[in-house]
Amino acid sequence: MTHDERRTTSASARVLNLAQRYLVGGVNSPVRAFRHVGTHPLLLRSSKGARVVDVEGRVYLDFVMGWGALILGHQHPVVLKALREGLKKTILLGLTHPTEALLAQKITESIPSVEQVRFCVSGTEACMIAVRIARAHTKRTRILAIEGCYHGHSDSLMAGKTLGLPDVLEQEIIRVPFNDREAFESIVAREGQALACMIIEPVCANTGVILPVAGYLECIREVTKREGIVLIFDEVVTGFRLSLGGAQERFKIAADLTTLGKIIGGGLPIGAVAGPKYLMQHLAPQGKVYHAGTFAGHPLSMAAGLAILSELESHPPYARLARMAQHLSEGLSQQAKRCRVGVHINQIESLLTVFFTDVSVRNAKEAQAAHQDQFARWANTLRERGVLISPSPYEAFFVSSVHREEDIEHFIEVSYDAFVAAVSSRASPHFRREPC
Ligand SMILES: *Cc1c(COP(=O)(O)O)cnc(C)c1O
Repeated sequence: MTHDERRTTSASARVLNLAQRYLVGGVNSPVRAFRHVGTHPLLLRSSKGARVVDVEGRVYLDFVMGWGALILGHQHPVVLKALREGLKKTILLGLTHPTEALLAQKITESIPSVEQVRFCVSGTEACMIAVRIARAHTKRTRILAIEGCYHGHSDSLMAGKTLGLPDVLEQEIIRVPFNDREAFESIVAREGQALACMIIEPVCANTGVILPVAGYLECIREVTKREGIVLIFDEVVTGFRLSLGGAQERFKIAADLTTLGKIIGGGLPIGAVAGPKYLMQHLAPQGKVYHAGTFAGHPLSMAAGLAILSELESHPPYARLARMAQHLSEGLSQQAKRCRVGVHINQIESLLTVFFTDVSVRNAKEAQAAHQDQFARWANTLRERGVLISPSPYEAFFVSSVHREEDIEHFIEVSYDAFVAAVSSRASPHFRREPC
């Protein structure tokens, strides 16, 4: 070890110690602790394009991409320009600013079911508000949700999943497996008149990527409409990712309410609930459903979001993203086969997850049955080889427009060693390359 290396390594240990001492678990969001893969938080200092740099100066090819927020990559020039111009005008006004209406207009023009938008600062808040509107509109209280879907951490939507909530909330939410029409229809038959809303990720992205089977979303749309249940599509991930019109355009299905976040903030904090006027008018000051926010419609988030959505509209990256993600999916699949590792890859557009299992994954239970230890060794080896994926088997990898063909090839190439490591019995992240 050179003197320089010793110095940087101890610098990174110092930062990690500091984080672990002053932040709970060393992080501000649990998945960042890397516990799913048995390691420790990765401390990053900067990012550009398709790459992130850790505090030691190691460079990683990034497929976390801000958990999907960065569809055009890190530090995109249009966002930097919008922020520089925005900063000249203001940081915070606390009153209404023209960019809010412009971003709302852009969203409305992209998603046919949307007439109005309310901005907030996170996807959590967006889903919380959507449920509140649905409850006020229907004068019912129960929520129908999907096992394994994530809608942020508001009380109603986390009932049964976290400590610190009153038991009564658990009676107000019913969860059914994704892709199970029978389970869905039988709950509606039993509970229909009590259900305020059904909330669903049209493509699951938080239990790994899971695609809806043919006819499933159509069935949900038809039945919820018939029963007067507000259908909320949580498009925090899929919005502006599956297409400009999100999952609704991709699958040609209109939701009643849509929640958005991630991409629409261009990398800055944001959330939005959006829908037709007759539902949105329930929100204060028009109606009696309360929502407010000091930072709601923050000028810099609006500016960054508007820049990104305009760029997506003028230079749609979707066809190329889908081609690259498909290439990645096929390449990884072939490498796994060469190493005789059973994997099943779910991919749609620029989203994919590698499940270490021989069977197809159509719901959360099947996702959870995959080999998590194999995933952990695979992800840790990729990280050692400079490829960063989400440190959890229940997250998606995100292909971004800044990934080049060479980057995809590189990922496929290093995945060979990672697949070897995945099925090696050695628990140590340090292993020697063995023949498959
Ligand atoms: C990330 C996410 C959320 C929560 O958004 P935050 O901004 O992290 O609060 C909600 N729903 C889905 C589908 C998400 O992926």
